[in-house]
Amino acid sequence: MARRSSGTRRLNQGPRAALDGFGRAVGSAAVRYVPESTDALRALVLRAAEERQPLAFRGAGRSYGDAALNGGHLVVDTCQLDRVLSWDPATGVIDVQPGVTIEGLWRHTLADGYWPSVVPGTMFPTVGGCVAMNIHGKNHFRAGPFGDHVLDFDLLTPTGETLRCSPEQNADVFRAAIGGFGMLGALTRVRLGLHRVHSGNLRVEGLAVPNLDALFEAFDARLPEADYLVGWTDLFARGRGLGRSVIHAARHLAPGEDPDPRRTLDPDAQDLPDRFFGVVPRGLMWKLLRPWVNDLGMRLVNLAKYTSSRLLERPGRTVLQSHVAFAFLLDYVPRWRDAYGLGGFIQVQPFIPADGARQTMRRIIETCHAHDLVPYLGVFKRHRPDDFLLSHALDGYSMAMDLRVTARNRERVWELGRAIGDIVVDAGGRFYFAKDAVARPDQVLATFGPERIDTFVALKRRLDPDGLLSSELSRRVLPQLPGLPAA
Ligand SMILES: Cc1cc2nc3c(=O)[nH]c(=O)nc-3n(C[C@H](O)[C@H](O)[C@H](O)COP(=O)(O)OP(=O)(O)OC[C@H]3O[C@@H](n4cnc5c(N)ncnc54)[C@H](O)[C@@H]3O)c2cc1C
Repeated sequence: MARRSSGTRRLNQGPRAALDGFGRAVGSAAVRYVPESTDALRALVLRAAEERQPLAFRGAGRSYGDAALNGGHLVVDTCQLDRVLSWDPATGVIDVQPGVTIEGLWRHTLADGYWPSVVPGTMFPTVGGCVAMNIHGKNHFRAGPFGDHVLDFDLLTPTGETLRCSPEQNADVFRAAIGGFGMLGALTRVRLGLHRVHSGNLRVEGLAVPNLDALFEAFDARLPEADYLVGWTDLFARGRGLGRSVIHAARHLAPGEDPDPRRTLDPDAQDLPDRFFGVVPRGLMWKLLRPWVNDLGMRLVNLAKYTSSRLLERPGRTVLQSHVAFAFLLDYVPRWRDAYGLGGFIQVQPFIPADGARQTMRRIIETCHAHDLVPYLGVFKRHRPDDFLLSHALDGYSMAMDLRVTARNRERVWELGRAIGDIVVDAGGRFYFAKDAVARPDQVLATFGPERIDTFVALKRRLDPDGLLSSELSRRVLPQLPGLPAA
């Protein structure tokens, strides 16, 4: 490839940006480019390869840890590639550029009776980010991960080649790039199958359960019927109340069950109210939360949530709730992460096989208590395995836990994260890179196993022989991936 003339600015002299993971506890400055077309993206990737500048992709930056960070190097943000290329309401198949968000998907398709088959707990991530992390939703046990609904995608590799990938075509790349955290190339187009819905509402049952055993039992009892299941666990509770939770189980409405589907399927009917309790503007809510985000405050918040559910909700009693209100509860409070203060927080989400999960979850919660660090939020889910190479999924359960980070406790939080990692390894569980900021490479190797990692490394050598694509996450958890030497 021809060398650039010495007068041309190198890419790493471009616009610098301070970037962070969603939890704000990790962040770094990088040179950020935001291409506005696939051609511009391609030109950037080729030029970075020519200049041998390590490059990471970024979507909406909603990964909690270091997945979309590349301190001191290049970050290429694909958010502006946000066009819907085609939509077919007869089949529910949509073709999009990678920067289309989950919100962009449902706003485009809901009036035609389609909802994304899998959504995370927020509507702001991009399709590119959701494919690259192979995200899961509250329906993981039933619908599988995001990747199970990808029909095909185009992957631009660092050599400038564009590969069409599907379960039939370049199947090995399809299996590895879904969940491959942007290490094999840029997703430039994704075709997805969406889920047919007959109402803009879900029928939701809420109930409180007094401890961990009851949580597992209530989940297992609802698995055959529910389309979505999620538990909010009060991780402050100890002793006989350890693991007490509020569960929400939801199911789609059958055809004809909604008397006015045209109204409920109108995207405007999904919009979240602008004020809390009809009074507090949504935009101010995080400031009101701020004084509560400490050990005492969050103990009380968790207690209040559990107690109010015990008093107000009953097993078997259901209410109607919009898809948006059910799926994106956290989006109700814009800027809620700022309530954690300057140090931010990390999320740890251990995935634990079903066999022995009760004991392992108990051990994880007790380990938090033993470290004197209680996660302020605990979200419990049921999962199923899939065929993707670096999948975090398994036949089992996970508990996503938000740990506040301060200047004083930072080291202890990292120690706790790694202690939980050791439990994951012992249990034969998995890590989830969209959430992780702390796992060690030996823990990652032990959970995925050398065979999967070797296959991924071999594919990486084939598609990205110089190791152009790397991120803070890849260098931390998979140092065996080929990478350019740091400049
Ligand atoms: C409040 C909240 C709730 C969440 N709930 C869930 C949940 O329920 N389930 C779940 O699974 N996750 C959940 N997440 C995590 C989130 O869904 C994932 O981290 C997702 O990957 C974020 O997408 P993004 O567009 O922000 O990507 P980023 O975080 O910016 O990037 C994620 C990865 O995708 C890669 N990438 C991005 N674009 C491209 C591209 N065009 N080509 C190749 N690689 C690319 C990046 O390199 C990076 O490795 C939640 C996050 C938040 C903040």
